[in-house]
Amino acid sequence: MRVLSVTSELFPLIKTGGLADVAGALPGALASLGVEMRTLLPGYPAVMAGVQGAQPIHEQELMGGRARLLAGRIAPDIELIVLDAPHLFARPGNPYLGPDGRDWPDNHRRFGALSRIAADIGTGSLPGWRPDVVHAHDWQAGLAPVWMAFAGVPRAATVLTIHNLAFQGLFPAWTAHDLGLPPEGFRIEGYESWGRVGFLKGGLFHADRLTTVSPTYAREIQTEAEGMGLHGLLHSRARDLVGITNGIDEEVWDPAADRHVPAPYASSTLDGKAEDKWRLQERLGLAVDPNALLVAVVSRLTEQKGLDLLLAQLPLLLARGGQLAVLGSGQPWLEAGFRGAAEANPGRIACFFGYDEPLSHLFQAGADAILVPSRFEPCGLTQLYGLRYGTVPIVARVGGLADTIVDANEAALADGIATGLQFSPPTVEALGTALERAFELWAQPTVWRRMQLRGMTRKVGWRHAAQRYLDLYRSLTPPAASA
Ligand code: ADP
Repeated sequence: MRVLSVTSELFPLIKTGGLADVAGALPGALASLGVEMRTLLPGYPAVMAGVQGAQPIHEQELMGGRARLLAGRIAPDIELIVLDAPHLFARPGNPYLGPDGRDWPDNHRRFGALSRIAADIGTGSLPGWRPDVVHAHDWQAGLAPVWMAFAGVPRAATVLTIHNLAFQGLFPAWTAHDLGLPPEGFRIEGYESWGRVGFLKGGLFHADRLTTVSPTYAREIQTEAEGMGLHGLLHSRARDLVGITNGIDEEVWDPAADRHVPAPYASSTLDGKAEDKWRLQERLGLAVDPNALLVAVVSRLTEQKGLDLLLAQLPLLLARGGQLAVLGSGQPWLEAGFRGAAEANPGRIACFFGYDEPLSHLFQAGADAILVPSRFEPCGLTQLYGLRYGTVPIVARVGGLADTIVDANEAALADGIATGLQFSPPTVEALGTALERAFELWAQPTVWRRMQLRGMTRKVGWRHAAQRYLDLYRSLTPPAASA
């Protein structure tokens, strides 16, 4: 089974969110099931610098400049096809935004080019390697199934995964011509989305199968409230849409062997975690206090993540003797809110604004609880890292957060199966109740410890999800191609 994965991010080369983690972990997880996955990735500077043994395999004119495809790898299991198109991708920093913090004005061309090349490979343009399946991720790869549907030649099967429906890749109608899209596809039954070119919309219409990253999110996005204007289409394709909950890379996220964690620990003894807590407190200038419930946030600071709810509940957290550590970057008003709170409460609230992968590991190891109060959350990864690190997740009961955490209600506590706390709906009041419950449980060390251990032994790796992706690929391909 040969699969071309098409993505705009891949950990560890380029990452703004969970998509990178998933794209980085899937090839290895699938390799152990006999799937040969290659990943098509834009040649941003970080990618060009990180890929080993890159060999040119193809060259052509593409979206107003010369482009090459380079074959290389970054790990034994991660084989890349890098789209080296300097006129589109030789720009440092964030993959989508220019230095002014706004989308690059030619993003339609940049990710149109990615999708175009994916479609060409999916219709057999690459000598010696023809995929059975093209697996496109998010809007940046959304036009690949569109072009393939219109190719008029034998093609690979297509799968499109939605990592976040909020990002749809919408561009003015004239870009259809600029991109060379088939004009007959600019309609409701095609890539047109409310008068614009919709990269994701087109992919959702044309891909053979659709997936998203948790069963609950798969249901939510078929409703008007959560479907972001695409619920009708998604509902009509319900039979082709499945939710497959993400795993996490258990080697990168292993509290017993994490090079970013000063005192490693395993579920057999949590002694190291106590040291990691004071190290984190010391590093952030928080009072070194083993008894204070240290709540962490590692997140993009956006409305989706519900962190304004937390701002409103800071008085409660402080009144109960808790501490808060925030690692994030995003909207200035949220940063300002947390910065102000930290300045007003030195030693109790600390923030680090920016993106810092090593520090995110220390947060997971050193904190007692990880808070994810999202308004919607396709899957969410930080609560899974929390489980693995014995850092009790406190989450809104939405999307993947609903699917991955067992709430500490009375029955779950009595049966010893609770792994965290859930609250619903995502409101200030419900978050307040969840925090109150967290402090009550924190005051019962044996109960808290049991939740930690239960979480640490949950299966959060990729095995299960990888098998489900393989089953999906197999359902789309003739038996001869199946691994
Ligand atoms: P999303 O993809 O919506 O941002 P996820 O929970 O799926 O949310 O994935 C977020 C990923 O980004 C996690 O791996 C998390 O640890 C990481 N992350 C988010 N913000 C930061 C930050 N400021 N520094 C380091 N890592 C971060």
